[in-house]
Amino acid sequence: MNYENYYYLTLAWIAVAIAVFLLLLFVTAPYGRHTSKNWGPMIDNRVGWVIMEVFVLVVLYFFVFTGRYGSIQSKTNLIILAFFTLHYLNRSLIFPFRLRTNGKKMPVVIMLMGMSFNLANGFLIGYFLGNLRIYGDYWLTTPAFIIGAIVFFIGMTINWQSDTILINLRKPGETGYKIPTGGLFKWVSCPNLLGEIIEWTGFAILSWSLPGVTFLIWTFANLVPRGLAHHHWYKEKFEDYPKERKAVFPKVW
Ligand code: NDP
Repeated sequence: MNYENYYYLTLAWIAVAIAVFLLLLFVTAPYGRHTSKNWGPMIDNRVGWVIMEVFVLVVLYFFVFTGRYGSIQSKTNLIILAFFTLHYLNRSLIFPFRLRTNGKKMPVVIMLMGMSFNLANGFLIGYFLGNLRIYGDYWLTTPAFIIGAIVFFIGMTINWQSDTILINLRKPGETGYKIPTGGLFKWVSCPNLLGEIIEWTGFAILSWSLPGVTFLIWTFANLVPRGLAHHHWYKEKFEDYPKERKAVFPKVW
């Protein structure tokens, strides 16, 4: 596939993200606290998370190393891949085993949808690095790379810290919900989702690439409606829920 075809394919995928965003503003994805038995067969929540997330790395590396530039990958390409890999090693093989989610299930269809989203994005980034772009050593000292890397790690820290606060709200064996406090929960209901959006903003900047921006758009499309749904749910469930908290973006939304 030449760059032109890749470009149009990616634009089409962005159009799907926009449609998904609009849909998710009206239909809440049924997993976690919003899970529902009306969406067909269910799978154990932890197993669902692993399957949903783990194949993205397989697809990513497959397209990187079977591509035209597969055998001449530059140091900078490998470093850019390392950012993505770091996130997904946590998300697929560490995060699911930290969850206190015993007995909970998610619909298989949600797992498959999450998997499709991951595989498509893994393909776009892998194909780009394997066939279309070799970053030279000079890239590592550009403002884009340095600022992007800093933003990425700030986002990752917020995401990991907030996920940890949420997971620790439950004692082992508990399955209920409490009002989270600490960290950026002072400002928003879903700092974990905010952190993830910041992280992929960093990745888009550090790679300064179409697939990087596409991944950010998809993350925004998935997480902002989810953050709004979580926020609404908290306000309904807890009468004493802090009034000044926003959903995802402090002081804004
Ligand atoms: P949630 O905040 O819904 O849940 C995270 C974990 O904390 C779950 O185990 C949940 O339990 C538990 N939890 C959440 N709130 C409470 C509470 N108030 N009291 C007790 N336990 C709680 O996060 P998501 O499931 O939406 O996302 C998890 C991670 O995956 C996030 O870091 C997110 O950024 C990332 N993600 C990324 C996507 C992307 O497009 N890049 C898409 C979706 C998620 P339970 O499951 O029982 O509700």
